Amino acid sequence: MTESPVEDSTPAAAPLVVLSKVNKHYGALHVLQDINLEINQGEVVVLIGPSGSGKSTLCRTINRLETIDSGTITLSGRPLPAEGRELARLRAEVGMVFQGFNLFAHKTVLENVVLAQVKVRKVLRSHATKTARELLERVGVGAQADKYPAQLSGGQQQRVAIARALAMKPKVMLFDEPTSALDPEMVNEVLEVMRQLAADGMTMVVVTHEMGFARSAANRVLFMADGKIVEQNTPEAFFTAPRSDRAKDFLSKIL
Ligand code: ADP
Ligand code: MG
Repeated sequence: MTESPVEDSTPAAAPLVVLSKVNKHYGALHVLQDINLEINQGEVVVLIGPSGSGKSTLCRTINRLETIDSGTITLSGRPLPAEGRELARLRAEVGMVFQGFNLFAHKTVLENVVLAQVKVRKVLRSHATKTARELLERVGVGAQADKYPAQLSGGQQQRVAIARALAMKPKVMLFDEPTSALDPEMVNEVLEVMRQLAADGMTMVVVTHEMGFARSAANRVLFMADGKIVEQNTPEAFFTAPRSDRAKDFLSKIL
């Protein structure tokens, strides 16, 4: 594996997320193979690669939706907790946005963003409501607060899902193909919210096929194939001069 060429602006600061020799199997399938990865505070890492290469699995290990067989993962220098209240707190600190929006269908948009704050972070409802309204404004769906998810477009629902994750004050946000289920005309409104989040300094791991986003927002592109990080580089270097045959082949198919 190659070292990241990205300069750490604060070399003294420990990386926010560290994966060290992480391995995972699904039966005979070695889905994550000795993954080493350090993600710095404020860094935007875009994860690309062919279908089945382990991108989703890698993301899901970072908030412990998936367990690992060996290796270590730390957040802010501490190993990920295995269970209980600590695990619930971890899930709050590691926000995740999926392809499907996963909003509670029978709750209003506002309530979707209020709920976890009250239940997990034990925030007073009045304060949680204020935070929720601010976040819904920030992602451009403030006017939809009292509607139900089904009354919103896919792009609006995904922006609510982002607001809901942000309400937990995460240290890092994971996005797993957040625009893949959207009609094309709604992709940009979601990417724009993500760009803004990146510009505001959020640490982000983004699995996406949107190479425009990768080029414009990523600090680093990781290319995965067969459970390994095959190559990583700045977006400029990766897209103009991929080094591995796997990456060249992948890019020739999608660009
Ligand atoms: P990607 O997101 O890059 O498409 P995934 O991480 O979803 O890849 O999957 C990597 C591999 O692991 C694929 O071969 C997939 O079929 C397999 N896989 C994913 N989840 C499971 C599971 N829960 N049980 C068994 N195999 C799985
Ligand atoms: Mg996937």
